[in-house]
Amino acid sequence: MGGRPLLNRRLDGHGTTIFAEMSALALATGAINLGQGFPDTDGPEEVREAAVRALRDGRGNQYPPGPGVPELRAAVADHQRRFYDLRFDPDTEVLVTAGATEAIAASMLALLEPGDEVIAFEPFYDSYAACIAMAGGVRVPLTLRAPGFRPDLDALRDAITPRTRLLLLNTPHNPTGMVLTRDEATAIARLAVERDLLVVTDEVYEHLVFDGEHVPLISLPGMRDRTVSISSSGKTFSFTGWKVGWVTASAALVAAVRTAKQYLTYVSAGPFQYAVAEALGLPDGYFTDFREDLRAKRDLLAGGLTEAGFEVYHPQGTYFVTTDVTPLGERDGFAFCRALPERCGVVAVPNAVFYDDPELGRSQVRFAFCKRPEVLTTATTRLRALAL
Ligand code: PMP
Ligand code: GLN
Repeated sequence: MGGRPLLNRRLDGHGTTIFAEMSALALATGAINLGQGFPDTDGPEEVREAAVRALRDGRGNQYPPGPGVPELRAAVADHQRRFYDLRFDPDTEVLVTAGATEAIAASMLALLEPGDEVIAFEPFYDSYAACIAMAGGVRVPLTLRAPGFRPDLDALRDAITPRTRLLLLNTPHNPTGMVLTRDEATAIARLAVERDLLVVTDEVYEHLVFDGEHVPLISLPGMRDRTVSISSSGKTFSFTGWKVGWVTASAALVAAVRTAKQYLTYVSAGPFQYAVAEALGLPDGYFTDFREDLRAKRDLLAGGLTEAGFEVYHPQGTYFVTTDVTPLGERDGFAFCRALPERCGVVAVPNAVFYDDPELGRSQVRFAFCKRPEVLTTATTRLRALAL
């Protein structure tokens, strides 16, 4: 094969994801997995039953419609109206995807020309860099810095060039737990309008905001027709394996994203789409209880990590807490995470992998708190041994 590398240049450096690597390490060592973000209990029983019913009734066992089953598109539109007073036409302005992951990939493939610049918060969720690369785009980091991880709006203004095509924004933000304030979101929206940029928003943690509020950028002045809003059922309903996500946007943007999406999976998750349609209709109490449950878990893990000697950066949302391991006499989060299962039976994720310049996140380590309280307590008890 001529000595040419098999993996193309665009994907060079995007080997195994850190989540796969760390979950494999947890399995191999039997350590508690606070690395990859998935809950250790399934979501509501009635939603699981709805999936079983759909399977048994033969709904979705054959290819569902390309844009998603009508019941789910209607439920997504209702959700946007109920929580944000946003109106979307379920027939033309909603698209069901294979998780938020496919929605992000399809958006990049649909909206970028090779060489287009994409500004995104750094640390980046790992699929962003790969998807921008697959689309031939150029990622431009807007670095969020500890301890607050607030976006520097002057730096954002300076980062925009004539080649900038879009902003790929994640709030609540993985891995830092930063949640954009209304003022920050408004300032970013103003810049997008002023510089005529597209905006793609990853809102998969929209129902996990503990301090402040979730502000969809698409709700702000001038944003309705330039924003692709992405979310997913995985986090909100604790069924991360079902991979049901969606896009809400103008008909023109949905049509563009759908064009790429139809050649990625065409469709996915038939019976699960019906179950998620029911999940989205759960009463308000479900969403409040879910958030309060995760808030208690955040406080439990953050408290335990502080006691164990970590510097803890208090997350306002998501189900992750970012820490700094310097107070433990450590310097390198990667080495720390690789050794952690052997040292005390816990798995975490080094944030350095989410930075273009790994030095910027060298000593940061992320822990997931979407686990049962007793698991979090055992983990922090084990981690306390590190300081001894
Ligand atoms: N975006 C962010 C910020 C995430 O943390 C995740 C992981 N859940 C995803 C996208 C992927 O979501 P999904 O599982 O729905 O593809
Ligand atoms: N979103 C999850 C996390 O950040 C992982 C999802 C995945 O493994 N791709 O941990």
